[in-house]
Amino acid sequence: MAMMDKFGRPITDLRISVTDRCNFRCVYCRSADPENHVAGHELLNWNEFERLARILIGLGIRKVRVTGGEPLVRDGVEDFIAALKGMGVSDLSITTNGHLLPERLERLLAAGLDRINISLDSLDAEKFEAITRTKSFGKVMAGIDAAQASRLKPVKINAVLVRGINDDEVEAFAEFARDRDLIMRFIEFMPLDADRHWSRELVVTAAEIKRRIEARWPMVPIAHERSETARKYRFADGRGEIGLVAPVSQPFCGQCSRIRITADGKLRTCLFSTDDHDLKSMLRNGHSDNQIAEDIRGAVHEKEKGHRINEPDFHPPSRTMVFIGG
Ligand code: SAM
Repeated sequence: MAMMDKFGRPITDLRISVTDRCNFRCVYCRSADPENHVAGHELLNWNEFERLARILIGLGIRKVRVTGGEPLVRDGVEDFIAALKGMGVSDLSITTNGHLLPERLERLLAAGLDRINISLDSLDAEKFEAITRTKSFGKVMAGIDAAQASRLKPVKINAVLVRGINDDEVEAFAEFARDRDLIMRFIEFMPLDADRHWSRELVVTAAEIKRRIEARWPMVPIAHERSETARKYRFADGRGEIGLVAPVSQPFCGQCSRIRITADGKLRTCLFSTDDHDLKSMLRNGHSDNQIAEDIRGAVHEKEKGHRINEPDFHPPSRTMVFIGG
């Protein structure tokens, strides 16, 4: 039986952030200034992650995404993925910036990974480097090629468009999806950046992206599962798929089936939760699995109705995306 919140939404999807560290500093996520990381001993160790995952799977979680920070910078992530697979997770995925993918893909495949999302915010090497503040364009493209040549095809590519930075690349990204026969997902910029530069004017809406792509290539809607974040389209005349994720302009909280575990063992029932629920202290203070499960059930029951980005009194959460896990 799946957990249910007080609004009747079944909670079946879990995102686990295995680290708050990242080898990129994307302008819409992290600050250029050094940021404080949680000290190593404050992060859950792999045994603690596995214990929590087992409890959550016992509570009806079926779909797990491993994320971060950058999940591939934490040693042992492949073993964790293999452990999750062994627990019977039917849909197991990872979100990565792709930098370490060329050398890690084989191990991820052997661990039983089912799906992969790779972030790519520009098809222009110079602009990519300005956005991510790294010189990794070539490695990320090699990672995408390797994943696309594996059983993970079609890979999902995530792009966050920010007005004035990369919003001129909508059509180029659509062409990329068509050429490579992959899934190109556009995610609206959310107020989760460390520099607090987010403003409504910087958001490139899903409606604008759809209009621009359709002006060149007619698209046909594809059915999506109720709780899926993306509205999906295929091209009427060719290969490739477009996904539009519109948390700002068309919130989908009414169908949300997700909860998150942060790298330091906090349960978050919404990306925009104003506080999080401490599970690490229960893990470390001798609570039984049943006690932890009951605590999780209670917190999930109180899951927020919605993220309130569009309410006049909205305040962004104190933790930014890299610390929550995207
Ligand atoms: N390091 C991995 C990566 O780059 O995909 C996983 C973590 S990253 C936080 C997960 C996703 O969150 C990425 O696709 C990233 O583009 C997205 N993201 C980060 N900050 C965001 C923001 N302010 N608004 C929307 N998406 C954001």
